[in-house]
Amino acid sequence: MRVLLIGSGGREHALALGLASSPGVTLIAAPGNPGIAEVAALRDVDAMNPDAVAALAVEVAADLVVVGPEAPLVAGVADAVRAKGIACFGPTAAAAEIEGSKTFAKDVMRAAGVPTAGSVSTSDLDEVAAALDRFGAPYVVKDDGLAAGKGVLVTDDRDAALAHAAACGRVVIEEYLAGPEVSLFVITDGETAVPLVPAQDFKRIGEGDTGLNTGGMGAYAPLPWTPPSLVPDVLERIVHPTLAEMRRRGRPFAGVLYVGLALTRTGPRVIEFNARFGDPETQVVLALLETPLAGLLRAAATGQLAAEPPLRWRSGAAVTVVVASAGYPESAHKGDVITGADGPGFIHAGTARAANGDLVTAGGRVLSVTATGADLATARDAAYALVDRVSLAGAVIRRDIALAAVENRIRIPD
Ligand code: AMP
Repeated sequence: MRVLLIGSGGREHALALGLASSPGVTLIAAPGNPGIAEVAALRDVDAMNPDAVAALAVEVAADLVVVGPEAPLVAGVADAVRAKGIACFGPTAAAAEIEGSKTFAKDVMRAAGVPTAGSVSTSDLDEVAAALDRFGAPYVVKDDGLAAGKGVLVTDDRDAALAHAAACGRVVIEEYLAGPEVSLFVITDGETAVPLVPAQDFKRIGEGDTGLNTGGMGAYAPLPWTPPSLVPDVLERIVHPTLAEMRRRGRPFAGVLYVGLALTRTGPRVIEFNARFGDPETQVVLALLETPLAGLLRAAATGQLAAEPPLRWRSGAAVTVVVASAGYPESAHKGDVITGADGPGFIHAGTARAANGDLVTAGGRVLSVTATGADLATARDAAYALVDRVSLAGAVIRRDIALAAVENRIRIPD
């Protein structure tokens, strides 16, 4: 099977590792990155141009196209690929709106009776102020459109909340959901839903979950502190009603539905839906998946998921720690030399090769350093041991990834 993978970040490097190790797969990636280059032939493409991606899929005789990031999906890349008669893992533009518009996602959830935060969608600053006062602090203000995971402000500062709303235009103001967060990926062909192991990511830049939101500074899976009923419960109360509502609207959702949850006093509630794999949770979830990834994604892309055997998982746990460039998240320092990042476990997120062959920084999040172990503590130690081999001037690294879980400090409110 010839697979074309679209994207260039850590999530795509993790997908590339899973796809390239699936039996019988030849992997082509576009545009890829220096880590992906070790397991795939790289091609150049403007991932935001649906016609260009579809033409490349035809040229490389792809049997399956896997689209990593959300922006190409919202732009219609999956539609253009399918129009050429090529199977594509990733939702149509119409279905990807579940991520592309928070207002649309809220509307789907309301219609489907899915538990989520109360919200007001508006671009009127008087309505923003009224909603902030109605929900109270902490204030949650979300840019309505795609913002690469950075359009959300959670703050106790009402003036800062108002200023963020003014800068965004259309915003969704939400009730604050108190409780630990869970990321659940569900592979779906629109009808059948296959959950992967739940993971937790770390969105804030500072240890103890303080400071600015980032693209994600680390992740681990599975989650020893969640009840066994969590995944069946989320499938029944959230995933299946949402998929049914999307079918009812003539926008069946096929691909991976990322369900971002808060485990609140009143049960799991949706913080957000995404239309693609999360980064960096993908790095840990796929590190544990034993079932070949390519066959699973092809089954989802071709409506065959119901016929797939149950997924097989490695025992133990996986942890990933992000190494970011100096100044992240306010800025991303490019061109700084990275050494020590050779061998298994060094997933490339924002790297490039300089003319002299040096590995250099090319974005905010540079590496996603991933290790597995017999249990969470062992996996965590192994991931930080790899991190300590990396040399990068001014590197920004959280040292507390998975620590609260290892120390059994995570509580679901009751
Ligand atoms: P999102 O991009 O919607 O995932 O939001 C980014 C982060 O902001 C989430 O991972 C949460 O940590 C936080 N967040 C978003 N919405 C809420 C909410 N309603 N209540 C509490 N925290 C939230």
